[in-house]
Amino acid sequence: MAEAAVAKKAEVADTQDLTDGFHLIIDALKLNGVKTIYGVPGIPITDFGRMAQAEGIRVISFRHEQNAGYAASIAGYLTKQPGICLTVSAPGFLNGLTALAHATTNCFPMILISGSSEREVVDLQQGDYEEMDQLAVAKTMCKAAYRVLHAQDIGIGVARAIRAAVSGRPGGVYLDLPAKLFGQVMNADAGAKSLVKVIDAAPAQIPAADAVKRALDVLKSAKKPLIILGKGAAYAQCDDAIKALVEKSGAPFLPMSMAKGLIPDTHPQCAGAARSLVLKDSDVVMMVGARLNWLLSHGKGKTWGDAPKKFIQLDIEPKEMDSNVEIVAPVVGDMGSCVDALLKAMGDKWTPAPSDWVKTVAAKRDDNVAKMAPKLMNNNSPMDYHGALGVLRQIVKERPDAMFVNEGANTLDLARGIIDIYKPRKRIDVGTWGIMGIGMGYSIAAAIETGKPVLAVEGDSAFGFSGMEVETICRYNLPVCIVIFNNDGIYRGTDVNTAGSDPATTVFVKGARYDKMIEAFGGVGVNATSPDELRRAVNEAMDSGKPTLINAVIDPAAGSESGRIGNLNPQSVVKKK
Ligand code: ADP
Ligand code: MG
Repeated sequence: MAEAAVAKKAEVADTQDLTDGFHLIIDALKLNGVKTIYGVPGIPITDFGRMAQAEGIRVISFRHEQNAGYAASIAGYLTKQPGICLTVSAPGFLNGLTALAHATTNCFPMILISGSSEREVVDLQQGDYEEMDQLAVAKTMCKAAYRVLHAQDIGIGVARAIRAAVSGRPGGVYLDLPAKLFGQVMNADAGAKSLVKVIDAAPAQIPAADAVKRALDVLKSAKKPLIILGKGAAYAQCDDAIKALVEKSGAPFLPMSMAKGLIPDTHPQCAGAARSLVLKDSDVVMMVGARLNWLLSHGKGKTWGDAPKKFIQLDIEPKEMDSNVEIVAPVVGDMGSCVDALLKAMGDKWTPAPSDWVKTVAAKRDDNVAKMAPKLMNNNSPMDYHGALGVLRQIVKERPDAMFVNEGANTLDLARGIIDIYKPRKRIDVGTWGIMGIGMGYSIAAAIETGKPVLAVEGDSAFGFSGMEVETICRYNLPVCIVIFNNDGIYRGTDVNTAGSDPATTVFVKGARYDKMIEAFGGVGVNATSPDELRRAVNEAMDSGKPTLINAVIDPAAGSESGRIGNLNPQSVVKKK
């Protein structure tokens, strides 16, 4: 053999025994069951995305990192596995950070993986390409943040990130990967041995027996018990046990927005339509994976009435107890273990909630539902919220397996109350912060993670935050039907600026045709001006599975400022002369 050929052969043999950062990260993710990555390519992770795709991981490329991040966060909620978001350095990282903070706030497991610039240059602040101390920035916004500098530490880095995201109260984790790491080579055998398959990533946390007894003593003493189900209960995927607990207790239950459907909204014990009454008049409240934050008026004040109340709380996070009001019976543990322990201790002879209370709540609920019914049947054109939502309510009833995404102000508040949900984890929405912008990211992840059709009901303003992702929906040909409640603006489309020729701050282009947007990418666009047209278009989209955007024309005068949370919106009472 010629000398050159021998040398070449030796070189090939050599590289076959080597691995590098790229491969080790991919292998570590695959070893831990990661099937999908949501992200935006660019320096230094472009090739990483390509290679991950080649190695069988599904890599979904978005148009903006925030939407990829929201997708990852809700993938985490739906699957109990950390959703993975992949971004470039500084600006891409910052774009993804909103979603990371969102995941942490909402207790969704997610890992934001960002490429970063070189430590030596960044730390001396010498002006590197996209220079930023990302780890320091991320730390304040997530559960944990790690940086890997050496290829041999990749296995440990990924394992720590996964464990931190899903154990205890789930949340967001940041993993910083400097550009140089990707190309670092090491011996392939040693590399394979350095990887860690995380064992029992979210260990069961069994509640103490005396805590369970204390909680049942309080529940037993109740004349007017109430159970509040939150998205922590939905997340835990112990649906049958929760239903059994609620039914055995006989108590009315109130689902928080994303817990709707954990038990069907049409269940006889559901007090959704009697919310004010049960919050005010209940004497014992059992919180099940829900927090007493602003969404529940912090457990005090007018909403909760004057009568003294006792709170029981089931939660995995001990620090959540007494966060707003005294919790007389804290039950700390994972939801499955807590509910099982309660059920077991209740035994077969548990006396259900007093029937006069149950009847009072049911009567109020039925009354409110009956009052609402005629409004939902109007066929006005242009549509009002009730006419349009009446149609969607029926469609969701006929298609209980579809995923339902919801954001906006009035579009959110009214849809939450009007549209019943029938199965667990079908409704995903703005969450703890009440943010706008989750719409398209959630829709994409919901379609991919569940394989079910998605109905996204969006305010026109809310849609604008992630609207460009309709291209992504078309590119991946996802079964997503977007309905935009288009009332020409934020809250309403009727505001006028009396001080000049610029439009008012809350209005958009009048008569905008959002349906044209999706047509640009080959999707189906429909302009719906009446409830009948809306019904036809949505049914067609859900049947065909084709990416569809329906511009639902809503009366610009319909809608109230800040939807149902106008009380949180400061307004000046001072008139300028
Ligand atoms: P909601 O907005 O529906 O009220 P929150 O997000 O405010 O729900 O509260 C969810 C609660 O559920 C959090 O306090 C969180 O610690 C808790 N939680 C999340 N996952 C679990 C779990 N697996 N077991 C027990 N509690 C959980
Ligand atoms: Mg609007």
